[in-house]
Amino acid sequence: MVRSAPMRMAAVVVFAMMAAGGVRTQDRSAPGGDARVQAALDAVEKTEPATIDAQVRLCEVPAPPFGEGARAAVVREMLRSAGLKNVRLDRAGNVVGERPGRSPRPNVVLAAHIDTVFPEGTDLKVTRSGAVLSGPGIGDNCRGLAVLAAVARALETAGVETNGSLTFVATVGEEGLGDLRGVKALFAETLKGRVDYFVALDGSGSSITNVGVGSRRYRATFRGRGGHSYNNFGRASPVNALGRAIARISDIQVPSAPRTTFNVGRIGGGTAVNAIPEEAWLEVDLRSSDQAALEQLDRSFQQTLRQAAAAENTRWKQNGAVTVTIERVGDRPGGRTDERSPIVEAALEASKAVKLPARLVENSTDANVPMQLGIPAISIAAGGSGTNTHSLAETFDSTDSVRGTARALLLTIALSRR
Ligand SMILES: [Zn+2]
Repeated sequence: MVRSAPMRMAAVVVFAMMAAGGVRTQDRSAPGGDARVQAALDAVEKTEPATIDAQVRLCEVPAPPFGEGARAAVVREMLRSAGLKNVRLDRAGNVVGERPGRSPRPNVVLAAHIDTVFPEGTDLKVTRSGAVLSGPGIGDNCRGLAVLAAVARALETAGVETNGSLTFVATVGEEGLGDLRGVKALFAETLKGRVDYFVALDGSGSSITNVGVGSRRYRATFRGRGGHSYNNFGRASPVNALGRAIARISDIQVPSAPRTTFNVGRIGGGTAVNAIPEEAWLEVDLRSSDQAALEQLDRSFQQTLRQAAAAENTRWKQNGAVTVTIERVGDRPGGRTDERSPIVEAALEASKAVKLPARLVENSTDANVPMQLGIPAISIAAGGSGTNTHSLAETFDSTDSVRGTARALLLTIALSRR
């Protein structure tokens, strides 16, 4: 933490708020005016060590895909004790809490996802070495969750009043095959038609995501007769077909702009070393920042799988022996929030105010869903810096991480005053 940070923030906060279209002259003496904003900034500064402790505590509670309940309960209690109203779980399992303003609109939603990519049973112990914390999920997204609660608490401590209302949400199902189910339910049901701005807090660092990368995810299964490895040698094999498929997928050419990617993330199949397999499967993630490029990649991918099955059958002269079925298991919509839109400008100004070097980037986050709906949405990193996201060796460096908390706070206030 930088000792002079509060003063520097104070000097520029008014500028940031005005740039965001927020501060009106009468606000200066009104409740919720600049003195209280400054008090809220002081509060996040003072409580940053506690915010980091909360980050660690959250991280040690499991939140595997489709198993977010235990961590959701902890988040719920944190948001409730931070002074939010009507803190509850919605039908999807999202934690939702409210901070009413002078009027219900604009309604600003600040969100962070609860889930991790790590399966049940992963060792989640967090270790500390100076400013650096290590543990699976410590940055993505325990940092976002901790900052979500810290912003709510600071607003409450300082008694900041907003024109519009704030809704704080911790979402389920952001990662992996969760397929954004939490945020999809939020916009389809829980807050349907009641969101004016959406800001996701996701991971560590300082970037601002204004392009939502779309993705398609598939599980493909090759099936065949199977048999004895010696007695039935010569039967076409689903595992051979899988190998052919992966080799061909690896050779698919994709554009670098718009950035378009593929990954065979999981494979499986077979039952014994001396048995010709009856089944083999793979899971693939296809992504692009451009919808047309994604469609093109999707077509190439599906064609490749069918060609691989055919090649295996041709090799053993057994037409139709190995089949492939392709199941779509994920469809994350893509979208884009214009760089010159008020929400992006406000985020850039808030970054400047706290001296965070913000960069506009492309990503796949909870913000994808509102982006596709045309609702102003971004995702912002929640401060500090990190390495090895989505791996067991994930780290979070908390040096100056308070700037991330302060930015989220300022942006939330600025948007609620528009
Ligand atoms: Zn994340």
